[in-house]
Amino acid sequence: MWDFSTESEFQAKLDWMDAFIRDEVEPLDLVFGGKAYEPLDDELRTIVEPLKRQVREQGLWACHLGPDLGGQGYGQLKLALMNELIGRSPWASVIFGCQAPDTGNAEIIAMYGTDEQKARYLKPLLDGECFSAYSMTEPHAGADPRLFRTRAVRDGDGWVITGEKYFTSNAANASFLIVMAVTDPDAHPYQRMSMFLVPAGTPGVEIVRDIATMGHRDGGHAHIRYDDARVGADALLGEVGGAFTISQARLGGGRIHHSMRTVAAVKKAFDMMCERALSRETHDGNLAGKQLVQAAIADSYIEIQQFRLLILHTAWLIDQSSTKEARTQIAACKVAAARVFHDVVYRAMHLHGALGVSNDTPLARLWQAAPLMGIMDGPTEVHQASIARRVLRDHEPAPGRWPTEYLPDKIAAAREKYGVES
Ligand SMILES: Cc1cc2nc3c(=O)[nH]c(=O)nc-3n(C[C@H](O)[C@H](O)[C@H](O)COP(=O)(O)OP(=O)(O)OC[C@H]3O[C@@H](n4cnc5c(N)ncnc54)[C@H](O)[C@@H]3O)c2cc1C
Repeated sequence: MWDFSTESEFQAKLDWMDAFIRDEVEPLDLVFGGKAYEPLDDELRTIVEPLKRQVREQGLWACHLGPDLGGQGYGQLKLALMNELIGRSPWASVIFGCQAPDTGNAEIIAMYGTDEQKARYLKPLLDGECFSAYSMTEPHAGADPRLFRTRAVRDGDGWVITGEKYFTSNAANASFLIVMAVTDPDAHPYQRMSMFLVPAGTPGVEIVRDIATMGHRDGGHAHIRYDDARVGADALLGEVGGAFTISQARLGGGRIHHSMRTVAAVKKAFDMMCERALSRETHDGNLAGKQLVQAAIADSYIEIQQFRLLILHTAWLIDQSSTKEARTQIAACKVAAARVFHDVVYRAMHLHGALGVSNDTPLARLWQAAPLMGIMDGPTEVHQASIARRVLRDHEPAPGRWPTEYLPDKIAAAREKYGVES
């Protein structure tokens, strides 16, 4: 069955979210913009906790997780529709209990953690009481995890971690870090590493500095040195050698959720573009009457529609099977997200002229994020390569000298079929 409609009960929830985010959450971005990923101070707690409570009462808290873990288990398709609204505001992810990188981190603890690890790390994360960080990339290597060098060596019952990690987002505010480290350098490249849950403040974990991006003054991505950081046996997440599999599971979910939120940000830019086109008078009419502007609006509309449908289909596919089965589609969403975001935000910004490049609209902020989109969670090229590799598995080389679609041979075969003389 093919169906593009939303059941009315869930549409009512989406309508509630739409108004709630617009009226109660987006204003937070304007006054407390840089604080969404910091522990709450007393002033913010009195504002934020009642909002989180309302989300819980609506049954919309932590919807990326199933009911056994405190979420609703709505599935990816409904989550995609929710994220189309949540992505409008950095604070919304926090208020709905589904902010990155905590969503992905919670998912892997839920999937691979022991009962003790779930009680210690997952529960506070789901309750919105703490933040976490994912420490994988290293200064010398990111896109190719086989090159990571950070080591974890057994020491009695526990492990000692030594090495350097780079761009560990929100580590400064995290209560714990999930660290990917080499445990057996001689194993198969994809079985060399294991994953560890490392509490913040563990002796030997040093945040060298927080790295800022794209001209921002404050950074949010830590360069971390692990210098003989000692953790217990209970720090191991999953099996020894299992880090690559865990990271694939984590990034699969993370990438699709990120793409879902991107739809929201792109729609915001698009709506601004349309409003501007209808509002701005120039050269004997408004911008909306100019054919080149119409082309920009039409192209943006088409790209957003294609992107959105790709995401919804991918989300549906995950619900029918798993993130593993939908790897090609998830990679396609990731590539498309970076492109559509870049193109639509640029057009919207350009159409606003000087105002567009000023700090007086959200567009400049969005534009600063554009180059990040094609790098974080793996560069575009790596996803393109993985899409092509998997797509090509379903194809064969031509059986002979000419392509299978070589028309002279096909016409000859068709003539023979119908007994038609050449
Ligand atoms: C905003 C942001 C947040 C991040 N958060 C985290 C985090 O929380 N935790 C974490 O561990 N990491 C994080 N990262 C790091 C991110 O995962 C890496 O930046 C990414 O994997 C790329 O690695 P790299 O930066 O070392 O680039 P490199 O691996 O050096 O790649 C640089 C460029 O080389 C090209 N390239 C690389 N490989 C190929 C290839 N196979 N084929 C063709 N071209 C290629 C691409 O153009 C690529 O952009 C974050 C990054 C950003 C930008």
